[in-house]
Amino acid sequence: MQLAQRMSQLGTETAFEVLARAEALRAQGKDVINLGIGQPDFPTPPHIVEAAAKALKDGHHGYTPANGIVPLREAVAADVLKYRGVEINPDNLVIMPGGKPTMFFSILMFGEPGAEIMYPNPGFPIYESVIRFSGATPIPIALHESSGFSFSADEVLGRITDKTRLIIVNTPANPTGGIIDAEELDKFANGLEGFPHVSVLSDEIYSRMLYDGHAHKSLLAYPALRDRLIVLDGWSKTYAMTGWRLGWSLWPDALAPLAAKLAVNDHSCVNAATQWAGIAALEGPQDAVDDMVRAFDARRQLIVDKLNALPGISCVTPLGAFYAFPNITGTGKTAGELQDAMLNEACVATVAGTSFGALGEGYVRFSYAASAPQIEEAMTRIAKIL
Ligand code: PLP
Repeated sequence: MQLAQRMSQLGTETAFEVLARAEALRAQGKDVINLGIGQPDFPTPPHIVEAAAKALKDGHHGYTPANGIVPLREAVAADVLKYRGVEINPDNLVIMPGGKPTMFFSILMFGEPGAEIMYPNPGFPIYESVIRFSGATPIPIALHESSGFSFSADEVLGRITDKTRLIIVNTPANPTGGIIDAEELDKFANGLEGFPHVSVLSDEIYSRMLYDGHAHKSLLAYPALRDRLIVLDGWSKTYAMTGWRLGWSLWPDALAPLAAKLAVNDHSCVNAATQWAGIAALEGPQDAVDDMVRAFDARRQLIVDKLNALPGISCVTPLGAFYAFPNITGTGKTAGELQDAMLNEACVATVAGTSFGALGEGYVRFSYAASAPQIEEAMTRIAKIL
């Protein structure tokens, strides 16, 4: 068997491995608290589930257009206008099976040997994995704890070369919970006007999960970027629909047909009933989203207080998503060692910062998509082993 060389370049998302290890311990009868996986611990709101069931009963059993059914793309356009204040053309949208295919497709569109793609580090691990897979050179954008894991526009702009093709931006961010404030985004967007050869993938999958009065600022707010901006968002996090596999992406005119072509080659279309559920999610009541974000906010404050009370650990307050990313260097352990000790000795699943890039050493990601009593119990157990 002779595999393509690029197969050796493909990375993974360790959160799924941690989930498997946690499940294996559970199967042995251990009471594992899972603060590892990045998915809401709430069920999908019932009206969304009912819309999918109705779609199946109504006979939506067949293929749909590769870029998604028109009423769903129209509903996304209305949602973008409502939450981002920007008018978009539904023809520029492609409905995807989750958020990940948008990053896969956009990195494949730009990445090849000789090209450079910039990505946040620590950041969502699939960015670096797919950049390497494409043959491009990954150029990390360092996110610093000292600035709340925002990014420095000057640093990013200063590293652009004539080989840079794509810059990936993620706010609010996984794994840090950091956000990029409007001032830094302004600087970044204005600076990019001097580099017309560079496109941007803006991963806004946590756009509805912000705290302390912060509002989401989308890169869509900058008209000068529109003809080279790809926006990634979806239903997974906002509507607790991770297992449904439903996402959307917005592409510039030149790229939308290519994204649809990749979709035809890859998966034909997203399953029809799920697309109808997506309409119900966007057009139906948003109380469940608001309630979930309120619950995350309370847990955020709880986990940050508890983490800061642990010996050797300090945690900046995350402003978005549902992750805390404490500095663990004071424990004397590496991120991997602490992750393993917490899982094996305290039955608490977390993800080592190094799973999100080399610059994640010294940090561990805690997902606070778990109940307050579970978070309290997890912190008590960790305190004991420390
Ligand atoms: N982007 C970021 C930053 C994420 O954290 C995730 C999931 O964890 C995704 C995209 C992918 O989302 P999906 O499950 O919809 O593919």
